[in-house]
Amino acid sequence: MVNNNAAAVLICLDTFARGREVIVSRGELVEIGGSFRVPEVMKSSGAILREVGTTNKTHLSDYENAVCGNTGLLMKVHQSNYKVIGFTEEVPVEMLVKLGKEFNVPVVDDLGSGCLISLEKFGIYGEPTVQDVVKQGADLVTFSGDKLLGGPQAGIIVGKEKLIQQIQKNPMLRALRIDKMTFAALEATFMQYLDEEKALMEIPTVRMLTKPLGVIRKRAGRILASLKKSLSGQADMNIVPDQSRAGGGSLPETDFPSYAVSVKPLNISVNALEVKLRLGDPPVIARIQGDALLIDARTIQDREIKILVNSFITAFKK
Ligand SMILES: *Cc1c(COP(=O)(O)O)cnc(C)c1O
Repeated sequence: MVNNNAAAVLICLDTFARGREVIVSRGELVEIGGSFRVPEVMKSSGAILREVGTTNKTHLSDYENAVCGNTGLLMKVHQSNYKVIGFTEEVPVEMLVKLGKEFNVPVVDDLGSGCLISLEKFGIYGEPTVQDVVKQGADLVTFSGDKLLGGPQAGIIVGKEKLIQQIQKNPMLRALRIDKMTFAALEATFMQYLDEEKALMEIPTVRMLTKPLGVIRKRAGRILASLKKSLSGQADMNIVPDQSRAGGGSLPETDFPSYAVSVKPLNISVNALEVKLRLGDPPVIARIQGDALLIDARTIQDREIKILVNSFITAFKK
């Protein structure tokens, strides 16, 4: 475990590919945000980026043709925050693993989000779990502690014991290691995952993402009733179907059906209302659609409804 997934990728590259080539598909040369851009991370680790394929299609033969005596790693990078759609092809990790075995080159899969629970039963397809990728034979898998996993900021590397031991000997590890508090928080998070039902209940990120639509609808009803009681004459309010997004650079283009309370202010502009709520204490972050403010009921806890209503009362007062 290291400070973040950027550090996890960096130490894997440093350990296995300093001065050597890392083969990556051109469709996977991601920028995550800030300065985490695959080509740049390669450069700072001292690895040599050997990009193969095209933006939309990369074949196994592209990797095959690029493997040479100086190949340190075959790398797959999750397209965390964008999607390539249409005439596309990527090489599944198990095929890279086969190729890697043939040439004795380890395969690292930078998964980004690090989902431990299959989201398919919640209608979200195509997001591989860490367990899937390990089963498919990836030698190293890296992921964040604070994306879909829902834990503290951290980077996690799982993989073949021999390779993990090599990473543990890298002097860089001490500079990237996590502190005791993070360690404790990460352990607490993983303990919840021992029981999937518990994880779905107790880890806020996972709980909110997988919240059943009926529960969200009911909560929207409670929010609406409370707002109506306090804001009569000041706004038109009703419940509207909405879509939530996971954010945080994960699950791009994936819409989660949700319900929102729509608030159309009558005496001030919707922009003014948005600003007042955002600058309030506590700040309320809502979304403007047309001339209404939308409050997505997915991410409001029952105990927060009263606080939310008070924020609205204050915002309408000033
Ligand atoms: C988010 C992400 C990273 C960086 O992870 P941090 O934990 O934010 O440092 C690296 N690679 C991929 C594919 C990511 O999605």
